[in-house]
Amino acid sequence: MRQSWHERFCDSPDVLKSARCDQTVVPVLDAEIGGRDFITMAGPCSVETEFQLMATANHVRRAGARILRGGAFKPRSSPYAFQGHGLAGLQMLARCDVPMVAEYADILQIGTRNMENYTLLEAAARSGKPILLKRGMAATIADFLRSAQVILDNGNPNVILCERGIRTFETAMRNTFDVAAIVLLKQISHLPVIADPSHAAGCRELVPALARIAVAAGADGLLIEVHPNPEKAWSDADQTLNFTEFDDMMASLDPYIALRPQISPREMVSADVMEAVG
Ligand code: PEP
Ligand code: MN
Repeated sequence: MRQSWHERFCDSPDVLKSARCDQTVVPVLDAEIGGRDFITMAGPCSVETEFQLMATANHVRRAGARILRGGAFKPRSSPYAFQGHGLAGLQMLARCDVPMVAEYADILQIGTRNMENYTLLEAAARSGKPILLKRGMAATIADFLRSAQVILDNGNPNVILCERGIRTFETAMRNTFDVAAIVLLKQISHLPVIADPSHAAGCRELVPALARIAVAAGADGLLIEVHPNPEKAWSDADQTLNFTEFDDMMASLDPYIALRPQISPREMVSADVMEAVG
């Protein structure tokens, strides 16, 4: 790695690749994030009802997703938007037909608005659960890596970095998908990197193409919003895929995923277990 990267990211030395660590693989029950498999996490933006969650879980699992996502505590841009069911949402996730749930979720997601909430990061780290850390919408890559370092410093090595788009002068899309960040993070950090094209795009028509770009950029996985009836979703309706759109996207990813060993040489393994993320 270039010496200048070491200098630029000197506040987060433990997240950078080193002779000691070239790649962290985050185990989540039977899945491995950052390992040989490309991992798709999919589900609704917010947990709404048991029907919505069960229907989505069953569908995305059949289509190849390995991890179910669903938000329960959701700080939103608008104080008048649905903020999530809180504990009740987590309890719905735990009742899903997935092989797991010692507690309520197997991965804790830190949203973009909380990336620099160090008190929260410390508490999340101490839970011992894998942490899916989303890039702050106005965070530089150095800021992002510093937050990951805080989690590592608190004794939790299982951090998954998530590029979800950043704010730029461009307003046509909800965010600007920083695909170069994925490429750079994969070169300099040993932590797994996943992409969230749903929040990056803000509109469902762009999600499949951005997902394919993320695979080509070397991402270890995807986070995709899916709902049985996106028009009726209580949050992020515009960017959410319906089941058919999700199936089509997954099929379109296959040739890109098949090229991954050339992008970053890894053997392929398989397992069909789904876990929950909340
Ligand atoms: C989400 O994943 O639903 C979410 C709110 O994401 P972000 O924090 O990236 O906006
Ligand atoms: Mn969302």
